[in-house]
Amino acid sequence: MKLTIHGAARQVTGSMHLLEVENYKILIDCGLDYERDRHLHTNEDFPFNPADIDVVILTHAHIDHSGNLPTLIRLGYEGQILSTAPTADLTELLLLDSVSIFMNKAHKGRKHSRNRGKQSNSSQPLYLQKHVMDTMERFVTIGFNKPFRLTGDIELTFIPAGHLLGAAAAVLKINDNGEEKTIAFTGDIGRKNYPVLNDPEPLPAVDYLVSEATYGGRYHTKGKTVEEALVETIDQACIKEQGRLIIPAFSIGRTQSLVFALNKIFSSGLLPPVKVFVDSPMAVMATRIFRKYHYLVNGEAQEFYNKKGDEFEFDNLTYVETLKDSRQVSNYFEPCIIISSAGMLEGGRIQDHLFYNIQNYYCTILFIGYCAKGTLGHRLLRGDPIVHIKDRDLAVYATIKQTDVLSAHGDHDDLMANVLSQDKNKLKNVFLVHGETSSMEALAATIEEAGYRATVPEKGVDYIL
Ligand SMILES: [Zn+2]
Repeated sequence: MKLTIHGAARQVTGSMHLLEVENYKILIDCGLDYERDRHLHTNEDFPFNPADIDVVILTHAHIDHSGNLPTLIRLGYEGQILSTAPTADLTELLLLDSVSIFMNKAHKGRKHSRNRGKQSNSSQPLYLQKHVMDTMERFVTIGFNKPFRLTGDIELTFIPAGHLLGAAAAVLKINDNGEEKTIAFTGDIGRKNYPVLNDPEPLPAVDYLVSEATYGGRYHTKGKTVEEALVETIDQACIKEQGRLIIPAFSIGRTQSLVFALNKIFSSGLLPPVKVFVDSPMAVMATRIFRKYHYLVNGEAQEFYNKKGDEFEFDNLTYVETLKDSRQVSNYFEPCIIISSAGMLEGGRIQDHLFYNIQNYYCTILFIGYCAKGTLGHRLLRGDPIVHIKDRDLAVYATIKQTDVLSAHGDHDDLMANVLSQDKNKLKNVFLVHGETSSMEALAATIEEAGYRATVPEKGVDYIL
């Protein structure tokens, strides 16, 4: 069989891996690559004919894993998309959100071209709502830990990966010309003790592992719980300074974990009540999906629900749905916490909140997730004194803070633990994807020190397994 890493090779976004067994072609993930192409149109250049793919397996809903599926279908893919049920529901939300981001960009692009008297195609939407609907029709959902036959020779099992509701590692058991081979694609690997989510489950013994490497060579801060880190920042920003705390957060996953952590803090009296706004219609829809699959949340969240009620609701919490109400949040002058998206600040209502607050000394912006290079979030984190928001250059007077307690990825030690749980005599190679080159090299070195083989694959190179 043959493995080709077509995306997230020596970079984080754009996960897309092709596994060929004889003539049967399995595509694992089909994500958007937004690191190399600001206009996204290189995402249309598939290095294979989409019509030739037999099946797609989706590890989880994040857009860097799912976001190019509608393009694949628009360009001729006719088969099924296999995922867990929550992944299918969350993917629909994320893809529809992508369409609105494309439409906004297209609108701005047309305005820009008109002003310059030129015609431009570079800001055309990559796909439309109807392509998302076509995509959703292809989903076939499979439960965790339930082997599913793709062909007489290939069996797929989804193993819970933590990270996001529904996220899974895809384990393929393959009869390759009479020889049994097992390969696992980790998707993204979550962390232990993460609010709301279950811990990642160990993988069975495999011959090949395609592992994410986002936090290769990096370690999460130890010794502080999510609640302790949040209490410290909220106390400073909202109680002592009587200011605002803005937390850019992905609406799906991160926001629900954050809301549950805040619920625990305020319901146990660790801090006096502070008004919390979750300003994101998508977060409201995502929270509904979390409620629908409540049987998949972790024991702590289940227990909280049984004893204290809904983990995503509390007295001082307001979910803001309409744009009109969102504008009212800017007129709320008491200390408050505003949670809004997008997490990397590349659009969404968070841009309005930044626009009005970035020059406010009594505002703290707390980053809780990864910000890819080239995003506004990345520019703020590296300390740019002036940033461009909504066609204006604004000086940054707000306090910029970052914490990794809510990072949904395992760190170097977690990634290594995943490898070390494997049988050294069986595991033939670990292919590293989904990380910057330095992270992959650091992780590859530790894997090899431990006596395993590791490869940092180049994009588009075939590996015969
Ligand atoms: Zn992810």
